[in-house]
Amino acid sequence: ALADEGLAKGPLIPPSKAASGEPMIAIDGVSKWYGAFQVLTDCTTRVSKGEVVVVCGPSGSGKSTLIKCVNALEPFQKGQISVDGTKVKDRSTNLPKLRSRVGMVFQHFELFPHLSITDNLTIAQRKVLGRSGEDAKRRGLDLLARVGLSAHAEKFPGQLSGGQQQRVAIARALAMNPVVMLFDEPTSALDPEMVGEVLDVMVELARDGMTMMVVTHEMGFARKVADRVIFMDRGEIVEDATKDDFFGQPRSPRAQQFLSKIL
Ligand code: ADP
Ligand code: MG
Repeated sequence: ALADEGLAKGPLIPPSKAASGEPMIAIDGVSKWYGAFQVLTDCTTRVSKGEVVVVCGPSGSGKSTLIKCVNALEPFQKGQISVDGTKVKDRSTNLPKLRSRVGMVFQHFELFPHLSITDNLTIAQRKVLGRSGEDAKRRGLDLLARVGLSAHAEKFPGQLSGGQQQRVAIARALAMNPVVMLFDEPTSALDPEMVGEVLDVMVELARDGMTMMVVTHEMGFARKVADRVIFMDRGEIVEDATKDDFFGQPRSPRAQQFLSKIL
């Protein structure tokens, strides 16, 4: 678990404007087109502070696109998204600052291959947040301990397993003190025996109170820690339900069909 190698010092989750239970992510009527192709249609949902929302649905349904809109990696033509009260689509919004408050972990770990694990953990803290090398290293090593990888600080990404690299990627995102964490199929590129160790880190993070939006087909994870499940199909949110309602009595036939295939 996260605390295997000793609890890290300092707050994991920084102060936010939102109080517990208030919306940390507000997605309002978001539509997006790639040329003539509409990839998102009128998507609306809220993620409260401390809430864990799992996003699932068939391949191509717009899950990745939706979460990329949350940290402005993708523009959208209609609607609005706010993260901790800051509008994503607003001329006055400082996008680099907003992005530094939104941690993102992708399917492919995307560590810098030519940098040591320590340097991977510290480079953005120094370059984006302006932390001193010493502060960045302390924070990075704390988080490396939280994901159980203290022994690997001086190695290079290629010397770690896929599961270990993904845990470093999570630590690297956390080092930036995000108020929310977005995950896009963080375990789907891993060998099966490595899925568990990455999900364990995510479960701990959820239990520590991190606000999380997680695209995943790992329904065991959803059952364990999700507060809500969003089901997308063809660019629409067709189901947005509590975990119990989603697994117990999905409303839409499309969600029922999806669940029957993967459970
Ligand atoms: P998911 O993550 O649910 O598999 P995506 O959000 O990746 O779905 O993609 C949704 C749809 O948008 C798919 O039909 C995909 O082909 C299309 N798409 C994704 N990225 C682009 C792009 N850059 N240009 C055009 N179409 C895209
Ligand atoms: Mg995707």
